[in-house]
Amino acid sequence: MNIDAAKAALSHMEIEDTPSALRAKSRDFFWYSPVLKARLDHVQADFILCPKGEAEVIAALRVCHAHDVPVTVRGAGTGNYGQAMPLAGGCVMHMKNMDRVKDIAPGRVVTEPGIVIRDLDAATRAHSAQELRMTPSTAGTATIGGFVAGGSGGVGSVRWGALRDPGNILRLRVVSMEAEPQIHDFTGDELHRVSHAYGTNGIITEIELPLAPAYDWIGAFIAFTDFDAATRFGAALADQDGILVKLITLCEAPTAARYFQRFRGHVAEADHVVLLMVAPQSIAAVETFLSGWPGRLIYRSDRGGWDRDPGLAYEYGWNHTTLRALKVDPDITYLQVRYHGPGMLDTIAAVRARFGPELIQHLEAMRENGRTIYAGLTLVHFSTEERLDEIIRIHEEMGAMIFNPHRYTLEEGGRQATDARQLAFKREADPKGLLNPGKMIAWDSPGWDYIRMYDWPGMRR
Ligand code: FAD
Repeated sequence: MNIDAAKAALSHMEIEDTPSALRAKSRDFFWYSPVLKARLDHVQADFILCPKGEAEVIAALRVCHAHDVPVTVRGAGTGNYGQAMPLAGGCVMHMKNMDRVKDIAPGRVVTEPGIVIRDLDAATRAHSAQELRMTPSTAGTATIGGFVAGGSGGVGSVRWGALRDPGNILRLRVVSMEAEPQIHDFTGDELHRVSHAYGTNGIITEIELPLAPAYDWIGAFIAFTDFDAATRFGAALADQDGILVKLITLCEAPTAARYFQRFRGHVAEADHVVLLMVAPQSIAAVETFLSGWPGRLIYRSDRGGWDRDPGLAYEYGWNHTTLRALKVDPDITYLQVRYHGPGMLDTIAAVRARFGPELIQHLEAMRENGRTIYAGLTLVHFSTEERLDEIIRIHEEMGAMIFNPHRYTLEEGGRQATDARQLAFKREADPKGLLNPGKMIAWDSPGWDYIRMYDWPGMRR
């Protein structure tokens, strides 16, 4: 790796290399995990490069390839698996300048990857009253490129499923890391080569996504004293074909009372809270539907009435729940769980009974192959890594699938298996293995047994 030669060859581009910039832009939200915090805290790039368009991406990759400099691409660094952290140092390619919206048409948008998601959503709303189908709860800070390459779903998944489901990404334009970088346009099944690949096999320079009609979503909060009733309510509401919702989040007590500061005085310690985003034309139907359930509507954003405005409903959901809990209780970490199948609600009840207060349940309703399932972003009172591993193992034994957020590799954070399409494309598009090194086990250590945590031998110590 010849950093000086690469920097000299790229000196006409925007480069940052002050100690504070290097530290800040080499980090993401990895510290959510005490396991990752212990292993990745020291990670640091040698320089930050901010290309202004695809031509500069190509030029930069050509130079870095020639000088064997690793390149880790960064959107806004809100990923919480250490995805955007440069384990081997080298170049962090920061996409902040590539934020142009290129085309908006009925049902679709074409954009550069570095735009902040909320800005993209604002542009499509202003253009033609359309919105993105699905956004992470970090829409206010995260980029659309980071979501496609590192995210999985979020606000809107209750209607549209996961980001990787067919139809939720239309086209990706990708630049390879070769002596002469190539441009690829992927659609259909080819999208799986680079979506959710952490930038390990190409830099995404253009994204085409589907759009849906935009609404002024109403935030509605409902309190239940019976957790099982709340889980059944959330799943049943998600199944209502005529009611349009964008978010159904269920936070077990005492999450709202203890961690949501602006809920104080409106909920008791024993209240489980369901947070909704409802299209205005559906809010009356939600109230009618609720009348058959033991829940109390405590807030509607279109009516207000709380002494302190609680803000956007989705900033209490998905991983924002964890963030709010962490700010109050630093020993909190979390798990990503998937409950599905006919026994889903029984599994949730059994897991809750098995662990008691060590875990606090947090569920997000989402669509999977036309059915409602719950994703769990369970809050965990962390004690030791061994206990965390044990909690994960018990979940799996009880029939709940875990995506481990305490691992930095694609495989360990996913289904613990090689994604043959991603690996095959990496062989073609990054033959030297310079893109986001250390994140794809199949590339570095084929045959890994997943019995213990993978520790990439190439990590700069
Ligand atoms: P980064 O963190 O910068 O990057 C993510 C990954 O994408 C990295 O591996 C990076 O190398 C790669 N990448 C970035 N840009 C490109 C590109 N142009 N080409 C190739 N690879 C690229 N995630 C969800 O899916 N849903 C949620 O609801 C959600 N909620 C969150 C809430 C909180 C409070 C936090 C801290 C995180 C949450 N996340 C969620 C994780 C994260 O915020 C999202 O996935 C977000 O979209 C990442 O965008 P980013 O711009 O910050 O990407």
